[in-house]
Amino acid sequence: MCSFCFFIVMPNLMVANAIPQMPFGGGHLAEWQLDIPQDSDGATGSSGVGAGASAVGRDGYRSADAQAPWGVPLRGPIQHWGNTYDRPLLGCEFQDANYADHVGVDFPVNAGTPVYATMSGKVVWAGDNGAWGGLVVVENGDYQTWFAHNESISVQVGDLVQAGQVIAASGNTGNSSGPHVHYGVKHFGGAEDEAGTWLNPEFYFSPEDVIEWGCGS
Ligand SMILES: [Zn+2]
Repeated sequence: MCSFCFFIVMPNLMVANAIPQMPFGGGHLAEWQLDIPQDSDGATGSSGVGAGASAVGRDGYRSADAQAPWGVPLRGPIQHWGNTYDRPLLGCEFQDANYADHVGVDFPVNAGTPVYATMSGKVVWAGDNGAWGGLVVVENGDYQTWFAHNESISVQVGDLVQAGQVIAASGNTGNSSGPHVHYGVKHFGGAEDEAGTWLNPEFYFSPEDVIEWGCGS
């Protein structure tokens, strides 16, 4: 699914020439570009919050039944580029070969699609956050889950949410080249670990939950 990946660093004109069958007029090219990596996604890492990214600290909330996240933040059917898919599309992966500093996974999807919490927890960020765009962060125990580039947010900081609850509508906000949900999972190694470490979200859902789409395809 990633046969076009090597085009991602080429000028648009070259892409258009190389793939004449692509509908690149009007908004279509912009839509097609949505999987181009966003530099913003690498703005934070295991060392904490990087330059240009607003800090989202560790709150310390832990419910009695705190669990690791599970599942994907979208539900099928998924609308993308005028097509419908029965499951979410998995675009750029964690530390993707085309995007080495990517700290989460990207799900290309039309703007306005409901985004679901993947674990119960406390909302510790709900609002604009620079390059992340409209960002929701849910924390519980050893984990934070990040949902970025949303066009609207339906929770507030301090809210306690349940897994499966709608928390936002997806979008193309912040440093994003097209509508998608960036999903990140950050793990804290102990009570003193304030920075946390980004883990591969694919550890926290089943391969059957998604359709492999590729990064830049
Ligand atoms: Zn991303």
